[in-house]
Amino acid sequence: MADKRDYYEVLGVDKTADEKTIKKAYRKLARKYHPDVCDMPDAEDKFKEVSEAYAVLSDEDKRQRYDQFGHAGMDGFSAEDFYQNVNFEDIFQGFDIGNIFDMFGFGGGSRSRGGSSGPQRGSDIYTEIPITLEEAFNGCEKEIKITRSELCPTCKGSKSKPGSNPETCTKCGGTGQIKEVSNTFLGQMVNVRPCRECGGTGKIITDPCDVCHGRGSVRKTKTIKIEIPSGVDEGNHLRVSHEGNCGEKEGLEGDLIVTVHIKKHKKFTREGDHLYLEQQISFPQAALGDLITIPTIDGKKMEFKITPGTQCETVYKLKGQGMKSVRYNNRGNLYVKIKVVVPKKLNSKQKELLNEFAEVSGDEIKHVEKGLFDRVKDAMK
Ligand SMILES: [Zn+2]
Ligand SMILES: [Zn+2]
Repeated sequence: MADKRDYYEVLGVDKTADEKTIKKAYRKLARKYHPDVCDMPDAEDKFKEVSEAYAVLSDEDKRQRYDQFGHAGMDGFSAEDFYQNVNFEDIFQGFDIGNIFDMFGFGGGSRSRGGSSGPQRGSDIYTEIPITLEEAFNGCEKEIKITRSELCPTCKGSKSKPGSNPETCTKCGGTGQIKEVSNTFLGQMVNVRPCRECGGTGKIITDPCDVCHGRGSVRKTKTIKIEIPSGVDEGNHLRVSHEGNCGEKEGLEGDLIVTVHIKKHKKFTREGDHLYLEQQISFPQAALGDLITIPTIDGKKMEFKITPGTQCETVYKLKGQGMKSVRYNNRGNLYVKIKVVVPKKLNSKQKELLNEFAEVSGDEIKHVEKGLFDRVKDAMK
């Protein structure tokens, strides 16, 4: 927000105000603007504004940042972090604070969970799939086996034997929540946690389903076909909706998240959409030039011209011979790096010709006979 009011101004306190004064000011304003008691149309906004100001000025650390950097200093806090130090129960002693946490867009611990929040979504399943670079280039279809929980086919997730009904939990009265008041150094805290007796459902299963033993779900192994788009890169995630673990109702399954791993290729290395190939050539090929064939990722061989006088480590760029891009409708490049290979062994004819070559070139080669040290070294190989 561009025109946020100054927090001190919002609470109507001095910049030097102490903790007590700030709390007193906030308590007064918060009780005035709480949307449950205030009829003003912008009550909620006003309430949020004073709460935000209080959240910052009541926290030494945040207040210091704000004094130094202004509103910009408050960027990057999540709603939960922001109000972390605010003890709403303390501010609203004797007040039903109802939906404050919902208003700020966070749960306030276990407050929003438990019996009253409706059926739960199932959890996501994470798995990995190895593919070859060619498969990544072309795109492919893969089958993977996963074990996941599915709604019990007999009780359909109700956990009770068909025909029987669960009873209302007496511990929590069917709300699924237990309220606990504790005293901490910050003041009185009201903590709402799910009821252990009924697991937060508010209901007790008296006659559990025989098939799932009252769990509502069964473990099943399933084979899933995965469409892998061409151009995928190492570490990319593919999300398959509704193939995760089942939720409490049909349609609330989690997702299956597949991480792609690309196997090391014998010839190509990849960086983004570009491919790199190391091509070995001989000294005569480098010196005289040549027409050779090189492999490409689409499986076709390609004619490649070595220009006479090519140096070792020369890199040729072949535009559009790299990987396909998942995002754009084009291909990266293929970079061919030349390695000129020096022969390790020469026969007498080769030696003769090379000596002649050196002579013609004006190189004076001092012939080294193998010494004792070299012979020992050779023997050890
Ligand atoms: Zn069942
Ligand atoms: Zn209960």
